[in-house]
Amino acid sequence: MKTFEKNIRKAEPYVPGEQPWQKVIKLNTNENPYPPAPGVEKALKSMDADRLRLYPDPTAGELVKALADFYHVDENQVFVGVGSDDVLSMCFLTFFNSEKPILFPDITYSFYKVWAQLYRIPYECCPVDENFCIKKEDYFKENGGIIFPNPNAPTGLYMELGDVEEIIARNQDVIVIVDEAYIDFAGKSALELIDKYENLIVVQTFSKARSMAGMRIGYAISNPLLIKYLNDAKYSFNSYTMNQAAIVCGIEAVKDKEYFEEGIRKIIRTREWAKEELKKRGFLCLDSKANFIFAAHPGYDVQKIYEALKRKGIYVRYWGSERIEQYVRITVGTEDEMDTLFDFLDRYLAAAKD
Ligand code: PMP
Repeated sequence: MKTFEKNIRKAEPYVPGEQPWQKVIKLNTNENPYPPAPGVEKALKSMDADRLRLYPDPTAGELVKALADFYHVDENQVFVGVGSDDVLSMCFLTFFNSEKPILFPDITYSFYKVWAQLYRIPYECCPVDENFCIKKEDYFKENGGIIFPNPNAPTGLYMELGDVEEIIARNQDVIVIVDEAYIDFAGKSALELIDKYENLIVVQTFSKARSMAGMRIGYAISNPLLIKYLNDAKYSFNSYTMNQAAIVCGIEAVKDKEYFEEGIRKIIRTREWAKEELKKRGFLCLDSKANFIFAAHPGYDVQKIYEALKRKGIYVRYWGSERIEQYVRITVGTEDEMDTLFDFLDRYLAAAKD
């Protein structure tokens, strides 16, 4: 081993879902199957390339203002970043600086463990129960901070706001981050608790309900003090995180509330129908409130189903990791895409039985 090896910060990276370049039915990374708001395309087409000579506004002020108006908070309560991954990573760096372990569920967004390891933050995973529900009591012990998604990923299970509040209220000496990447498809957001709890940060994204995963925009909403700490860390890292296209397109997406709400309704409708269709075929589905469905099949090896689907150009997500070996996660696509999935499953399940 070379001597310098011991000084290298080694990381075990997060493994993102595949982004195949061929045309496939893509139900593996929780993207939205519908295009972004029409104003986004217009903004892109009318962008003046000459503007790119200049650095973008380091504060992304206009985007921050659009978000502040939309969520009825002050501009100094909003922090934006390059997808919520960037925002969450900044939150880990800024707020999780204790010797005590931070807490998050054992079955959850696998990036949390990666950031904890990268930044050398001690952590402890709290096992979800046998129905994959987060047990709030596990988060009432001493800790260095808390993070969980609501709805959780990859289960899609939503925790009622009263339970979320109990976790925040019982942990007022540490920062609690609620990762609401999928909240628009679910229920009440913890945003309504922002003024009540000084230790709360809510993180959301443009990648799901706003159909802009490719543009990479995420944001945190909290009180001005915590947002200042986040900005101080960001400006110590990279001043210009938000590029010009992201700023102008992001504003257009936020402005179109009607399109946003209609898009959410469509996904929820398809999700509820798809859950029933899966159940008709013998799948066990968790009651997802996100834009994906976590499902197992008692009669079949789910890994084989995943592989067969992939050979047919239908991509879903399979991890094969502890406790979830028999589950796949299926992103809610268009009704046509889901019909193609069900047609294939009908043929596969019939053939695999013989
Ligand atoms: N949080 C959760 C729970 C997620 O599933 C994802 C999507 N992979 C993210 C955060 C990050 O999304 P993005 O960086 O696209 O905003």
